[in-house]
Formats: sequence, structure tokens, C-alpha cells
Amino acid sequence: MFKINDNYLKLPGSYLFSTIGKKVNAYAAAHPDKRIIRLGIGDVTQPLVPAVISALHGAVDEMGDAATFRGYAPDLGYDFLRNAIADNDYKARGCDISPDEIFISDGAKCDSGNIQEIFSLDNRIAVCDPVYPVYVDTNVMAGRTGTYDPQGETWSNVIYMPCTAENDFTPELPRETPDIIYLCFPNNPTGSAITKGQLQEWVDYANKVGAVIIYDAAYEAYISREEVPHSIYECQGARTCAIELRSFSKKAGFTGVRLGFTVIPRELKAGEVSLHSLWARRHGTKYNGAPYIVQRAGEAVYSQEGKVQLEQQIAYYMRNAAYIYQGLKDAGYTVSGGVDAPYIWLKAPKGMSSWEFFDYLLENANVVGTPGSGFGPSGETYFRLTAFGSYENTVEAVDRIKAL
Ligand SMILES: *Cc1c(COP(=O)(O)O)cnc(C)c1O
Repeated sequence: MFKINDNYLKLPGSYLFSTIGKKVNAYAAAHPDKRIIRLGIGDVTQPLVPAVISALHGAVDEMGDAATFRGYAPDLGYDFLRNAIADNDYKARGCDISPDEIFISDGAKCDSGNIQEIFSLDNRIAVCDPVYPVYVDTNVMAGRTGTYDPQGETWSNVIYMPCTAENDFTPELPRETPDIIYLCFPNNPTGSAITKGQLQEWVDYANKVGAVIIYDAAYEAYISREEVPHSIYECQGARTCAIELRSFSKKAGFTGVRLGFTVIPRELKAGEVSLHSLWARRHGTKYNGAPYIVQRAGEAVYSQEGKVQLEQQIAYYMRNAAYIYQGLKDAGYTVSGGVDAPYIWLKAPKGMSSWEFFDYLLENANVVGTPGSGFGPSGETYFRLTAFGSYENTVEAVDRIKAL
């Protein structure tokens, strides 16, 4: 008789986006005359830039010709893409990362979920609160998190690092010692960023206690301030304690195209065993590579035209972010984020809970956002708006909120 992995049964239902969907649909059905503006979901809306489209077309044509047809991609990625990443994302920023330390994948969600497989079940993880839910849920599936307390919405074997207004939404070093530390900066959902000096403290701490940092830099392309590092490898000593995750989803609008990568420096070791060799083994065994066509599209992101076009695309979203930030501030809201990330994090006014404010905004401004409590207990009374909408919709949504 077969048995299931009953760790899956421990997962509390994640009703966040389905509850939002149900509430919005019910409101829309009851008020067909209202135009609802959605600034809730973290998905891009602008089309792929011309340099990427042209690379996709070119690669499709190559696949139709026996002389240039490609079959299975190399497990770890094509050299043309790994070289472009090493040169542009790392060498150009003074980071010592070689192409063979870069593992191409189809996105950072899978990588952030799969990376825990190469670690023992005995490891204790530390996460920010609020947090991108994938880090915790995948450790639940593996059986690493202990028991769930529905009251506190926490797991007994997870170390939570509250990110609140008091610490400017950046975590403090935990009192208990973790083995694996998940950090995501610029942050989803709070939109906060970390300075190079602050990140250096985490690297020093991880090296001191023998922990590994899994650094999710999915929003790196949105950084505007000089003091915010684009990569954890800008910090001294990160090669012995850090894995970095990157994605083309928010950087280049690839949420539906699918491309990302993970960096594991060769010096990152547990005793004599390098994590690089474990992840290479895992990738080679369970993964057959991101599509050639998509890797060519990824290469175009680093071309001269691609860079210019994407800078404009990110500026478009960040103009939305600035409009939301300033508009809400002018209206008396307490707001943060929106400077190095496409997310604005605001405090629900008048003592409202996250969900009370969700309903209030839906009913009175016909604007949809995401309740902060959906990302963890410290997100309660907060609310996330995204800058990924069109400029026209963003302006209208903010103006409606201001008029309340
Ligand atoms: C959007 C996002 C990603 C990217 O995921 P992909 O699978 O590459 O689309 C990764 N981490 C965080 C925190 C995100 O918000």
C-alpha cells in the first residue's frame, strides 16, 4: 500500500490570492458599473522589449533549419548566456564570479524551492516575517519545519526575523543560531532594500556561525540608490557563505517566458564537500535545461539595445512606484518601499486590519491590493500595492485613494 509524503498535509491552506479573487469577483458581479483597478498581483504587464523579441524570432528560425537546430541544452546552461551573466551582472560590479559558478534555470521560484534539497533535514532555517511564502512552504514539504501553530501562524522549528517599521523593514541578526538564512533584497513584499554595509554584517555573521545565506535578488534591476548592493558577492567573504538567486521575470518581463539562474561559488563548502558539486549533480539528474530559444532571449537582455530598452521599461514601472508613494504620502498614509523595488508597503489607516483595509479599498475606491497579513504575522495591519500596472491605471487608482 503506498503512502504519501504527509508533510504536505501539514501545509496550512494558502488562501491569499484565491480569497482576493473571490472577493473581487463578488464585488464585480454586484457592481457591474464599477471599473476595478488591480494593483495586487506581482506580475508584469509591459510587453517584451524589441531586442528580446528579435532574439526569440532568430532562435526560432535556427530551430527550423537542420544546420542550426539544437536538441537538449547543456544541463547547466549555454556558455553564451553564462558568459554574458558573469560579465554583466558580476565582473562589471567587481564581483568575482566565474561562468561555471552560474546555473541556468527556468526561474527563481523553482530554484528557491529546490535548493533546500541539497541540505540535511536537521538544518534550521531563518526567514524574514513578512516573507515570500515559497521559502517556508518548500521546507514544510521536506519535513524541516516542526509543527504549525495556527494561532501564531508560525512553525516550531523556523526562526522568524520580524521586519517592521521599528527596524526599517530589514531583519536583525537572530538570537537563536540558524543553519540556513533566507534573505530577499530588494524585498517582496515590503519593497525595502538593504545597504552594502548591512548586508556585510549578515555575511560576516554567516561565516562566523557556519550558516549559508540564500540570497534572492529577483528585484535587483529595480535598485536606484548607490549604497544598495546588486549582488551579495559585492560583500567580502560571501563566496564562502552565500548562494544567490536571480530571475529574468521582473528584470525583463520574462514571467511567462521563464528564465533564471543560481550562483554557487566553488568555495562554499560543508567540510570537504562543495555545494556547487551537489547542485550540479541535482541539476544534471533532475533538470534538462532551459530552452535554447529562451536562453538566446536572455542573452539579448545583456545586448546594448536590450539594456537601453529594459532601463526604460524599469523606469516606466518605477515612475508608477513614485506616483503611488508620493500620492499616498500626500494623502497622509505611512508608506515605505517603492525606491529600490516595485512594491509600496503601507500601513492600514485608522487601526484597520489588513483585510479590513482590503475591503475598504475595494468598496470605496475599487482598487485591489494585497493584505500584508498574507505574507506573515508581522504583515498584519500592512498592505502591498504593486507598480506593475499601466501608468494610466496607477494614476487613477492613486487619485481615487486620495479622494477618499
Ligand atoms: C517574482 C519573484 C521571484 C521570481 O520567480 P520566477 O520563478 O523567476 O518568475 C523570485 N523571488 C521573489 C521574491 C519574487 O517575488
